[in-house]
Amino acid sequence: MAIQKLLIVGAGQMGAGIAQVAAGIGIDVTLQDIKSEFVDRGLKGIDKGLAKLVEKGKMDAAAKSALLGRIKGTLDLEAAAAQADFIIEAAPEKFEIKKEIFTRLDAAAPPQVILATNTSSLPVSKVAATTKRPQNVIGMHFFNPVPMMQLVELIVGLATSPETYAVTRELAERLKKQPVKVEDYPGFCGNRIMVPMINEAVYTLMEGTASPADVDTVAKLGFNHPMGPLALADLIGLDTILSVMEVLHDGYGDSKYRPCPLLRKYVQAGWLGRKSGRGFFEYASK
Ligand code: NAD
Repeated sequence: MAIQKLLIVGAGQMGAGIAQVAAGIGIDVTLQDIKSEFVDRGLKGIDKGLAKLVEKGKMDAAAKSALLGRIKGTLDLEAAAAQADFIIEAAPEKFEIKKEIFTRLDAAAPPQVILATNTSSLPVSKVAATTKRPQNVIGMHFFNPVPMMQLVELIVGLATSPETYAVTRELAERLKKQPVKVEDYPGFCGNRIMVPMINEAVYTLMEGTASPADVDTVAKLGFNHPMGPLALADLIGLDTILSVMEVLHDGYGDSKYRPCPLLRKYVQAGWLGRKSGRGFFEYASK
């Protein structure tokens, strides 16, 4: 059965991005959050992003309004779960929050429905164990910004069934993403490579090796990366980077994954990157 009614839990950066991509290929999306202002912020962000595409002539106004018409906001998780035929959770990266959401989704969604988590770092098998349908739980790890980034890691937990993997892979391909199958180990594959690189860039900054702009120039001009590691950290959110480093450090017990003290200091100061207006660089408005 082709997925037609998608529920996305969490209307933040990632939830809104996934909603845009899914509605863009004709899927009916319900975007759920805990406060109407958060739902509105997500919907407005999508509207703004699409308006830019219209301005650049990459999308026409009719396609924009048709896409927006396929996304409906809600606060009612249970009612939306009962109607959905696939669910993607994109709530904050805290196990307790995900546990509560998955317990409620498990109770409200029809039994065959797949519950995917967009977690960057939490073990998918642990999230799955909060439900009575661990065979239907999978990691669907999109990259930011979702409309631009082609990769999606599909993380198979210990109990994830081959059917769940096949249905999720088909959905990822319909979303015009390139799925990669990844086993459920700390950091999965992408973050295990990328986040320690960012952490090392923060060490170079802490040790005064180079200025933030120069650290980023090294990566852009020296390695042909489209964006430097510090600007990328600001885009992802420094709190997210820190929590992934902590997961790697705990999960492998290897000191090479110790989070940089300067990264921790920025997070403690509330300098979280673009979303707070300041990280390694300053941003005029969000
Ligand atoms: P975000 O903070 O932008 O958005 C999270 C949203 O979830 C917020 O709107 C918040 O109000 C909402 N929320 C909080 N509690 C909720 C609840 N109980 N029920 C429903 N909604 C709730 O975060 P984000 O950057 O979009 O990240 C979401 C998830 O995606 C995290 O697990 C993160 O690790 C993962 N992720 C993030 C990135 C990234 O680059 N930001 C990339 C890949 C994966």
